[in-house]
Amino acid sequence: MTESIFDNHGRIINYARIAVTDRCNLRCFYCMPEEGIQYMPKKELLQFEELERLTKILTELGISKLRITGGEPFVRKDIMKFIESIHTLPHLKEIHITTNGTHTADIIPELKRLGIKSVNLSLDTLDAARFFEITRRDLFSTVYNTLEALIHHGIPTKINAVVMANKNIDDLIPLCELTKNTPVSVRFIEEMPFNGTGSHYEHLQWNHINILNYIKERFPTLSKLEDPRYSTSSNYKIPGYKGDIGIIAAYSRTFCGTCNRIRITPQGTLKTCLYDHGVFNLRDLMRNDATDDQIKGALKQSFSHRAKDGWEAEKNRETFFPATESMSTIGG
Ligand code: SAM
Ligand code: SF4
Repeated sequence: MTESIFDNHGRIINYARIAVTDRCNLRCFYCMPEEGIQYMPKKELLQFEELERLTKILTELGISKLRITGGEPFVRKDIMKFIESIHTLPHLKEIHITTNGTHTADIIPELKRLGIKSVNLSLDTLDAARFFEITRRDLFSTVYNTLEALIHHGIPTKINAVVMANKNIDDLIPLCELTKNTPVSVRFIEEMPFNGTGSHYEHLQWNHINILNYIKERFPTLSKLEDPRYSTSSNYKIPGYKGDIGIIAAYSRTFCGTCNRIRITPQGTLKTCLYDHGVFNLRDLMRNDATDDQIKGALKQSFSHRAKDGWEAEKNRETFFPATESMSTIGG
C-alpha cells in the first residue's frame, strides 16, 4: 500500500495525465493553427527511460490512475513499449488513453491485452465533411472504424466532442442519438482557449448550461445520473438508450473543488492545474541527477501550493496570461 497524498485544499492527488508527445497528425482548429505549432526538438521531450522512471515515482507517491495523451500518443514510435513497461507497476491500477483514433484501430487487441481500462476517442462530428473542416484532415472513416473496433473489443469508450459555435452544433443531437444503440459515453466539452493562436471568444456562448438546455429541448426525458467520484463530467442518460451523455464544464471550471489530477507535459513540466503555466520541470531534475526521493520531495512541495481552482491558477500565471497555448502541449 502506498500512502495517499493530498494538496493544500485537502484534495487527494491520485490521477496523472502524461502527454507523451506534442506531435499530431491532425490540425483540429480548437487545438492548433492550420500550419501546426513549433514542435519541440525531440531531445527536449521526455525520453522513454524518463517516462518510465517518472511513472514509477508517481505511482509510489499515490498515483493509481494514469492517462496517456498528447499530441497524438500513437504517433510516438515507442508508445506501446512504454505501456508494456508500466502496465504491471504494482500501484498502478488503471491506464487510460486519449487518442484521435487515426492510428489506433490495428493495435486495439494489444491495448486489450495490456489491460487498458478505457479509451477516450476525440470525435466532434458524425459528418465526414465537417470532420474535415474541423480537423483539416480527411480521416473521418478511419476514426469511425476505430470507434467500431473499440466497441467490438469491449474496451469502454468515451467520445470527446468539443462544442464549437458555428461549427458542430448540428452534430450535438446526432452524437446523442449515437448512444441509442452504442454503449458509449458521449461527452460534450466546453471549448477552452488552448488553440495555440491566442484567439478566443469574449464570452463562451456554448457553456455547459446552454449545451444541457439544447439537449433537453430535443430529449425532454433526459435523466441525471449519479456522477462518479472526481468526475469532471455531469452525466445524463436518455431513457432506454445503451450509452450515456456527459457535459464537461472545462472552461466554466465548476469541478475544481474535487480535482484529483496533475499533468505532465511532453517536455516534463508539471502542471497542478490545466490553467497554470507549469510549476517546475521534472525532466531537468532527472537530467541533473536528482534522486527519486528528491523528485518525490519536489512533487510533494508543489502539491502543498496548489491553486484552489482554475481561475486562481490562470490569474497566477506570470507569463502568457491569459492561457493560450496549444492543447497538444498540455494533453487536455
Ligand atoms: N490527440 C488526442 C486526441 O485528440 O484525443 C489526445 C490529445 S488532445 C489535446 C486531448 C483532448 O483535448 C481531446 O479530446 C481534444 O478534443 C481536447 N481539446 C483540445 N483542444 C481543446 C480546446 N481548445 N478546448 C477543449 N478541449 C480541447
Ligand atoms: Fe491533434 Fe488531439 Fe489536438 Fe486534434 S485535439 S490537433 S487530434 S492533439
